[in-house]
Amino acid sequence: MNLLRKKEEKELSKIKELFLEKKYFFLSTHLYPDGDALGSLVGLAIALRNQGKVVKMGLGEREPLPPHYLFLPYLDEIVYPDGHWFKEEVFVALDCASMARLGGWVEKAKKAKWLVNIDHHQTNERFGSLNLIEVKSSSTSELVFIILKELGFELNKEAALAFYVGILTDTGRFQYANTSAKTFEIARELIGFGLDTFQIFQNVYENYSFNCLKLLGLILKRARKEGELIHSYLTQRDLAKFNVGLSETENYIDFLRLNRDSKLAILFKELPDGNWKVSLRGKKGVYSHLIASRFGGGGHPGAAGFTTSLPRRKVLNLIKGDLI
Ligand code: 5GP
Ligand code: MN
Repeated sequence: MNLLRKKEEKELSKIKELFLEKKYFFLSTHLYPDGDALGSLVGLAIALRNQGKVVKMGLGEREPLPPHYLFLPYLDEIVYPDGHWFKEEVFVALDCASMARLGGWVEKAKKAKWLVNIDHHQTNERFGSLNLIEVKSSSTSELVFIILKELGFELNKEAALAFYVGILTDTGRFQYANTSAKTFEIARELIGFGLDTFQIFQNVYENYSFNCLKLLGLILKRARKEGELIHSYLTQRDLAKFNVGLSETENYIDFLRLNRDSKLAILFKELPDGNWKVSLRGKKGVYSHLIASRFGGGGHPGAAGFTTSLPRRKVLNLIKGDLI
């Protein structure tokens, strides 16, 4: 694979061997799954099943999924740690920069005979027994697609839809710096399976409830600018008042980053336990994954995140110190 660094070639061939030879697979992805997490999960599950494999999909926490991804197939099959216990030979972690991102599946992942870690985050902690980390890939979906293609595994329209959604969302609709000519080539191939790209766009991006839109208005009204930093927040009380789920607010941060003279956008979202889930978007030389790492999180230069129990003002002051 010409996309891969030499170091990863050996790991890739071992992963391919497992995909060819093993029969029982357990796939999981990160907490608060986004389009790439769900896309790579479902896409790989379908492709492996088409090869006669037995595949389970699991998420580490029983949280509602973002409604704008519910059109993806097979999401109703997803299992949770409080349910059954399986004994698959191969555990595949997708789009997870660290083991902790698997939530309730961490213990199962540790015990698996094979723990395959497929991801594109620069901050990936290489926690697998096999690790395929390709930071040049726009998305984990793109990376998985390339592996399957090299293996000669057949895709179908459903798998193509899943991978397309992963690539579409992680590239900000083919706009972010992680979008390469290769990304467009793969998208072209996926669309060739008969995808209705306009319908997909509407499902993902024009799917706000009226309340969701009004809550977005509040976030924008609350936004503050401190030098090249723009930030805002939303609380559990806001969510309750507007009757909006946390998972519906995934794209709010994208509206803060629209500001032309900010280098860093931060959105604080209060979790039910009172901690903050913090989203960062960096540009013009601000590497948000480095900032997130300081708080125990991770991500990409352009998009990163972490969870913290620190007060908002404290986090902002620490980050401002970093920016100056
Ligand atoms: P978002 O702000 O959309 O939740 O996440 C942006 C990026 O940062 C994604 O690539 C996501 O995987 C990563 N990210 C978000 N939260 C965390 C976290 O708590 N830990 C790590 N390692 N990465 C995170
Ligand atoms: Mn991703």
